Amino acid sequence: MTSQTQEKKSFEIAIVGGGIAGATLAVALIKHGIPCQIYEQGHGFSEIGAGVAFSPNALRAMDICDKSLRAAFEKVGTHNQWPEKHDVYFDVLDGMAGGDTPAATKPLFTLTNDQGMDAVHRAHFMDEVAQVIPKDKCHFRKHLDRVEEAGGTDGRVKMFFHDGTTAEADAVVGCDGIKSRTRQILLGDDDHPAARPQYTHVYGYRGVIPMEQAVEALGEERAKNSCLWLGKGAHILSYPVDGGKTFNMFGAVVDKGDWPSQDKLTLPTTREEALRDYADFGPMVKKQFELVGENIDKWALFDTGDHPVPHFNKGRLVLCGDAAHATTPHHGAGAGFCVEDSAVLSELLADPRVTRPDQLAAVFAAFDAVRRPRRHWLVQSSRRMVELYQGRAGNVDQADVEWMHREMEERFGRVWGYELGRAIREGREDVGRRLGEAGKGSA
Ligand SMILES: Cc1cc2nc3c(=O)[nH]c(=O)nc-3n(C[C@H](O)[C@H](O)[C@H](O)COP(=O)(O)OP(=O)(O)OC[C@H]3O[C@@H](n4cnc5c(N)ncnc54)[C@H](O)[C@@H]3O)c2cc1C
Repeated sequence: MTSQTQEKKSFEIAIVGGGIAGATLAVALIKHGIPCQIYEQGHGFSEIGAGVAFSPNALRAMDICDKSLRAAFEKVGTHNQWPEKHDVYFDVLDGMAGGDTPAATKPLFTLTNDQGMDAVHRAHFMDEVAQVIPKDKCHFRKHLDRVEEAGGTDGRVKMFFHDGTTAEADAVVGCDGIKSRTRQILLGDDDHPAARPQYTHVYGYRGVIPMEQAVEALGEERAKNSCLWLGKGAHILSYPVDGGKTFNMFGAVVDKGDWPSQDKLTLPTTREEALRDYADFGPMVKKQFELVGENIDKWALFDTGDHPVPHFNKGRLVLCGDAAHATTPHHGAGAGFCVEDSAVLSELLADPRVTRPDQLAAVFAAFDAVRRPRRHWLVQSSRRMVELYQGRAGNVDQADVEWMHREMEERFGRVWGYELGRAIREGREDVGRRLGEAGKGSA
């Protein structure tokens, strides 16, 4: 169970969206005794049946949110299966090398950190997290249409849902993902360039394969431990999930065309099409696609990099997770940044000086100031990572592995080494300044 304390603030927070951002924020607020309600359009806290990796910064953020989150992760998390690979994040290999040649089987280099690769099956993780959120705080089948600030009783925020119902809170945190409605509401204009994410001209394939089959095809070392296969115009990465029972893979391909749908981020395709995309790759990569089902989905990778959201807060409304900073997955960090958001926002709201609804706008402004630069950086750095994986970076030759190794280490190091404690300290100082200023203004 979460270490829930008695509710002790005179304000109530509405969280819109029950993905990793919304659910982890709810857990953290509950720990601090901050009244909150969660509104999710789906039938429950559901996630897709694929893997997600959490790097060291994300695990530290879980610890700050609440020990129950880390416990949920530890219960379903999976490391590399070989003890000697426990600090390996990725063995980086040449995906285009052929057969059993040394080039195909020996890593170009290895990326390491203290924890190595830590991944979970998304749905299993969310099932665990859902168990620590009291049911009376969860409102499902609630699709938010619009919000009126000061539209409720005593100047509270009023939310209007698609089913015709309404609800009130003292503030709203938009955790409604990449196609966020709250982002549009915050920007005040559905046609604002930042209101919608853009196609990055990269799409991906995801697959989960029973581990025995993956071992048979790739050998135990490659199947049971995390690998990143570089290539021209495409790459693929893999790691074990489900305690090592399942091999999880994700391949990304550059797309010269446009994504054919405005609404759908996934479209059905076939294994044959995926194999055509990887026609120039070596057998270690092709075999992975031969093992996925005949009919698979293609995932469009959108982000907010061309038109970053200029501010994540407006009055009593603030954005967290992909709603604020939709990124491509090439850093494997979007979900981890959701947990960082939850840790920082909950700690700022828990500040003992923050007790009243009229102080929430100052907290959200401090949250925006301390989080926005890192979140915008991630979106751009993730774009750069796919260039490195696919040998397309302007002045980088694929053969220059040392140079690529250094740049990848530097960029991953910035993700993994985030000083969360320092960010929270700086945010709190800023909250103090803003409350002081607000106090002086109203005196
Ligand atoms: C292929 C791929 C691989 C990835 N791999 C990794 C990885 O290894 N590591 C990592 O850290 N990150 C990874 N990411 C990124 C990560 O998945 C996301 O950053 C993260 O899941 C976003 O969580 P979220 O809660 O912000 O949004 P979501 O998970 O999208 O949740 C939003 C929720 O809001 C609900 N909602 C939406 N609109 C409304 C509305 N109007 N009213 C009410 N509810 C609403 C939705 O139903 C949903 O439940 C990957 C992403 C992709 C695409």
